[in-house]
Amino acid sequence: MKILLTNDDGVFAPGIITLSSFLVSSGHQCTVVAPDRERSSVGHAITLHRPLRMWQIPAGPYTAECSVYACDGTPSDCVVLALEEAVPSPAMVVSGINRGPNLGDDLTYSGTVSAAMEGVILGCSAMAVSLNCNEKEPEHYYETAAAVAVSLLDFLRDSPQAPGVLLNVNVPNLPLHLVKGVKITRKGVRLYEGKVTRLKDPSGRDYFWVSGRPEDQLVEGSDVWAVANGFVSVTPVHMDMTHFPSIETLTSGGAEKVNFK
Ligand code: MN
Repeated sequence: MKILLTNDDGVFAPGIITLSSFLVSSGHQCTVVAPDRERSSVGHAITLHRPLRMWQIPAGPYTAECSVYACDGTPSDCVVLALEEAVPSPAMVVSGINRGPNLGDDLTYSGTVSAAMEGVILGCSAMAVSLNCNEKEPEHYYETAAAVAVSLLDFLRDSPQAPGVLLNVNVPNLPLHLVKGVKITRKGVRLYEGKVTRLKDPSGRDYFWVSGRPEDQLVEGSDVWAVANGFVSVTPVHMDMTHFPSIETLTSGGAEKVNFK
């Protein structure tokens, strides 16, 4: 398959380098177009008010079979530029492997998932891949996530997804033999305790950190539940965010008769 590979951790992040080498050794034609620096949590932003640059970089840590471009924009900028300038009509846009999970509502903040969304909006099949690791863990099993991604690509080649649907894949941070299998999941609920921390700068003025401890609602069948139980979570994400039942309740409830004149 001809694959456009991108991420939001930057072009030299270990996740994207590992995935590119697994893709190439599985016979895929892989072109990387990724941000020149960390762009995590930028969501679906695109750059409209300054010029963008994209340049080819020497293979470096990548295998020589892989063409690699850096871009000074966001992950979604990378997809837009790549599809016009570097990889027209790929069979698949793959984003990742992200350092850390993209579970629950966090997928709306995620540059990783947004890059896959951009691919879907532009008419491509797309998959986002994230490793459920954190900074405190000594081992980050990117090879596990790369092996899972390659196997899912093989499956998708024979079973393409409906237009407008991307797969949000989250992989437990475990050696491959300890992963229990794949669960097809729904978006779960992950809330953050203590999301805003107020501190003082050296001048005594307040400043703030947005972070917090994730608190998952481990409902069976959700993405957070699957990875917490050692499964790969595969959530089909649809671009149409319309809440269809509310069309009926709003209409029959008189919302179209609101008087504003
Ligand atoms: Mn990231």
